[in-house]
Amino acid sequence: MDREKLLEGKAIAARINQIVKNEVLELKKTYFFEPVLCAIQVGDDKESSLYLDFQQKIARKLAIGYKVRKLAADTDRDGLIAVIEELNRDSSINGIILQLPLPGHLKANDIRNCIDPRKDVEGVHPENLGKIILNEKGLAPCTACAVMELLSTLNIDLYGKEAVIVGHSEIVGKPLAAMMLNAFCTTTICHIATSERGLLAEHVKRAEILVVAVGKPGVVKGEWIKKDAIVVDVGINYVDEKIVGDVEFEKAYEKASYITPVPGGVGPITVALLMRNLLKAAKEQKQEDK
Ligand code: NAP
Repeated sequence: MDREKLLEGKAIAARINQIVKNEVLELKKTYFFEPVLCAIQVGDDKESSLYLDFQQKIARKLAIGYKVRKLAADTDRDGLIAVIEELNRDSSINGIILQLPLPGHLKANDIRNCIDPRKDVEGVHPENLGKIILNEKGLAPCTACAVMELLSTLNIDLYGKEAVIVGHSEIVGKPLAAMMLNAFCTTTICHIATSERGLLAEHVKRAEILVVAVGKPGVVKGEWIKKDAIVVDVGINYVDEKIVGDVEFEKAYEKASYITPVPGGVGPITVALLMRNLLKAAKEQKQEDK
């Protein structure tokens, strides 16, 4: 396999991490101020715990403080909101992450709205999502940003390109579609109804830039990929104890000009951008305190 086609995230993440770390160390030296991130986990979902460990490891590397508030799986809406409000008020906490999945009785969108938008480092509060539509600066959702960051390293002109996004979730597909529109891509969003009508292949075949964020292995067949397309596979799926994406990799690899590996594509950049958002939030909060 010729690695030149691989759109790897590790080097990009390392570059972002280095910039963040330098700034964090500077803040500590100059203002004796440590940015702190707090993750809230309700219940003990295994994959979510692994992700928390990974976040913690990166935060440590970047000299960022990291705390976890673990809550029982039967915590009710009021109990969870009380914790969020406490963290909103706590000036020693600069960023709040609500770890997903939440137990079935709690609705992520409803709860996210309670996070102070200035501490919403995942960029999922309506105020931050709205800023993307308006093409204004804010705390943008990390995975959607990671896709744009990957594309920017290719130095291609996005103007007028046919972009197809598969998946329309609030944290990936929808904000990414707005970002691509802001970059003047001709943007199509596919979702479950597209597949149910049997039209997914038709849309994917047109894509010069294809982003897949579904969470179903093989939902996009390799043979559908347009010759020389750029393929960004956001999906993370566990199959036979291995991590795979949503796109049939081997066949897609033959046709694409660039394709992200899974793991090692979008994932590392997402975490790096989470830490960059935290730094940004911390600096803005410090400024407001003056
Ligand atoms: P999600 O909220 O479950 O959204 C999945 C989307 O896919 C939904 O819009 C769903 O539509 C759509 N969908 C489901 N089946 C489909 C099909 N057969 N054809 C077309 N669309 C279909 O998931 P998410 O949070 O966006 O995450 C998507 C994937 O990315 C997951 O594997 C997740 O683990 C991964 N992820 C990776 C990173 C990273 O950093 N690499 C970050 C976040 C997420 P409906 O809702 O209408 O059914």
